[in-house]
Amino acid sequence: MMRSDCEAMDAADSLAHARKRFILPESTIYLDGNSLGALPASVPSRMQDVIAREWGDDLVRSWNVNGWMELPRRIGARIASLVGAGQDEIIVADSTSINLFKLAAAAVLRQAPRRVVLSERGNFPTDLYVLQGLEKLVGERMTLRLVERAEVLDALSSEVALVVLTHAHYKTGELYDMRGVTQAVHKNGALMLWDLSHSAGAMELFLDRDDIDLAIGCGYKYLNGGPGAPAFLYVASRHQECLRQPLSGWMGHAAPFEFVDRYAPAAGVAQYLCGTPAVLSMAALAEGVATFDGIAMSAVREKSKRLGDLFLRLVAERCGDGGFEIACPRNPEQRGSQIALRHPLGYEIVQGLIAQGVVGDFRAPDILRFGFGPLYTRYVDVWDAVDRLARVMADDTWRDGRFRIRAAVT
Ligand SMILES: *Cc1c(COP(=O)(O)O)cnc(C)c1O
Repeated sequence: MMRSDCEAMDAADSLAHARKRFILPESTIYLDGNSLGALPASVPSRMQDVIAREWGDDLVRSWNVNGWMELPRRIGARIASLVGAGQDEIIVADSTSINLFKLAAAAVLRQAPRRVVLSERGNFPTDLYVLQGLEKLVGERMTLRLVERAEVLDALSSEVALVVLTHAHYKTGELYDMRGVTQAVHKNGALMLWDLSHSAGAMELFLDRDDIDLAIGCGYKYLNGGPGAPAFLYVASRHQECLRQPLSGWMGHAAPFEFVDRYAPAAGVAQYLCGTPAVLSMAALAEGVATFDGIAMSAVREKSKRLGDLFLRLVAERCGDGGFEIACPRNPEQRGSQIALRHPLGYEIVQGLIAQGVVGDFRAPDILRFGFGPLYTRYVDVWDAVDRLARVMADDTWRDGRFRIRAAVT
């Protein structure tokens, strides 16, 4: 395969036009949109407007006249259309970690006397840490049980209250069969909570069709919402009234501006809000989500699979003797929008690549991760990235001692 083949693939790409919706540095090949999505081109002017006009001129009236109060629902409804949910089933609030706490706590309290929360060893750390914190807090009412990925279904029993899994694994990109796992969980009388941080915005999802109970997801990865963007949460309509989330702040109250002493939950998904929305961050997230306007998620998924297949093929052709082990599924149906390679000197190699303008990332102890934002990653970017990977390996430049010094964020 040659670079010109990749140019031809870009010329035939029905999503090629979407790259103009982003601002990307000329000299960088950005393969880390699974950690921080690229900057939407509309964000700088929108932020200027929200700051100067809405905040500066309209001041507190903006809560009404500029729709600030509506942002959590409005952006939630837009995300709902990307993940196969109803307009009133998703709301934007807080962080993924906090949303996990709210939903897992609500589910555990609802499911008594069942008390086991089941998750996977090696799940994303914040998910495990939040569940450990909840376990400490509720005492007898919850036991966290962590099992190996392959044993999750076997671990289902009549004691299991809730299963918490991440749809696309953050290191390997391996996907769960969302529908099949959820069915098995339901058969055992448990509730299912999916973390969609590495799948929302990268592929088609069918939360309603697949009968998902609860889900959470990240705003700053494939949804391009900006660093630390607010997260989203999904509660199926059928559960919204029967669950009670414990962070019962005033924004989740039935009538926040009546200022009464006694908490009464808002109807529907609004109950799952806690405090005042972060308007500036929400304004950026709205632009991130708008980068999907007019785009079918099926096309996003198709391109994502092709980018991944191309990367693997080029690694086999160009880096065959580099000592890499493929750490992600080869079958694109079982893989999220990323490629993972394993190498004992992964950290140094990633640093060597970054010095060459290719931004991927490293996940300890030995995983090199390359994510594809199908709206802005081109096939030639994959070509150029693997070309530079091959050069880095041939040069041994990454053995240079300076690449060994680890920064705080890898
Ligand atoms: C990125 C990510 C998060 C992020 O959580 P924050 O609260 O935004 O820090 C959570 N879960 C998974 C699986 C992730 O990949």
